[in-house]
Amino acid sequence: MGGTPLIELERLVPHFPGRLLAKAERFNPGGSVKDRSALGMVLGRIRSGELVPGRSTVIESSSGNLAIGLAQICGYFRLRLICVVDSRTTQQNIAILRAYGAEVEVVRDPDPATGELLPARLRRVAELLAETPDAYWPDQYANPLNRQAHLTTMREIDEALDGRVDHLVLAAGTGGTLGGCAEYIRQAGLDTTVHAVDAVGSVLFGSATPCARLVPGHGASVRPKLLRPSDADHVLHVTDLDCVVGCRRLVRREAILAGGSSGAVVSALDRVLPQVAPGETVVLILPDGGDRYLDTIYDDTWVQRHFGAVAHLWDDSARPADETVELVDIGHR
Ligand code: PMP
Repeated sequence: MGGTPLIELERLVPHFPGRLLAKAERFNPGGSVKDRSALGMVLGRIRSGELVPGRSTVIESSSGNLAIGLAQICGYFRLRLICVVDSRTTQQNIAILRAYGAEVEVVRDPDPATGELLPARLRRVAELLAETPDAYWPDQYANPLNRQAHLTTMREIDEALDGRVDHLVLAAGTGGTLGGCAEYIRQAGLDTTVHAVDAVGSVLFGSATPCARLVPGHGASVRPKLLRPSDADHVLHVTDLDCVVGCRRLVRREAILAGGSSGAVVSALDRVLPQVAPGETVVLILPDGGDRYLDTIYDDTWVQRHFGAVAHLWDDSARPADETVELVDIGHR
C-alpha cells in the first residue's frame, strides 16, 4: 500500500512556469487513494485487539473506493465485510466487492423524512451493528485514523522532492486526504500552500444548499466531522463539466486515464496557476484511475446527454506544434 508514483507532467500546461507533478493513487492495489484509509482504519483496530481476524465483522456504508479498499483488506485479514450500498451503486463496483468476498446489501428506499438515500443507508448500518456480534463501523467521515492514514501520502511526496513542494492541489470528500497531508506539512514545517478542491453544490467549506452532482468522490452533502476547513489555505469549487474537461485534457495531453475527482483537480489547476511563481513545484493528487468512469466521463454519449456539444473544450488538434514537448530523460523518480 502506498509508494505510488509521482509523475512529471510536461504536457498538461504549456509553458508551465515551474515543475508540475501528479501523485497517481490509482497504483495502490485496490486502485485508489482510499486504500490508505481502509488499511489505516482496519489495521489500527487489529493492532489494538478490537478486531480479530477470523471472528470480527466490519460494516460500512460505502459504494465506491473505500468499499473496494475495505473489501481487499478485510479479505486479506479474513474479516467478514458487509457493505451497505444503494441503488445508485454501479454494477461494476458491486461485482468488484463480491469478487473480493464482501457481502453487499442494497438499500433501495430513501429515508421517508428527507427523501435521501444516505440516512437510509446509515440506519441500515446501525441495525446491522446492533444485530451482529463483534462488529466494527469504520465511519470514514469521523474516524481520525482516516486522516492519519494520509500522513504517508504527503511524506512520500516530501521525500521524493526533498521538501520542495510549493503548492499541493487535492480533492476533498471526507477530508481524510486533506487532513493527513496538512498535518504532515505542519509537522515537517514545510512551506506548502494547500489548495482543496470541492464540488459546486457541496457543503464542505460553506453553507451552499446541497444539490445533486454527477461525479462521485469529492464534495459531500453533509459536512463530515473529520473535516477541518482550516487545513486548506485555499478552496476551489468545480462543476461536473469541469471534471469531465479536466479528465479529457489529462488523457489527451498526458495519456493518463484518471477518475472524476482527478479531473476536478486538473481543472482547478487553471485557477492555481496565477499563484505559481517561476521555478515553483506544484503537486496534484490524482485519487483514482479512469477505468471506473468509462460509462460516464469517458463515454461521449453520456457527456453529450448531460452537457451538450463540449468536445471543443479539450480538443487540442488546433494546438500549435511548439506546445508539444521534447523527449527528455527524467530517469526514475
Ligand atoms: N476522490 C475520490 C475518487 C474518492 O473516492 C474520494 C473519497 N470519497 C475522494 C476524492 C476524497 O478523498 P477524502 O475522502 O480523503 O477527502
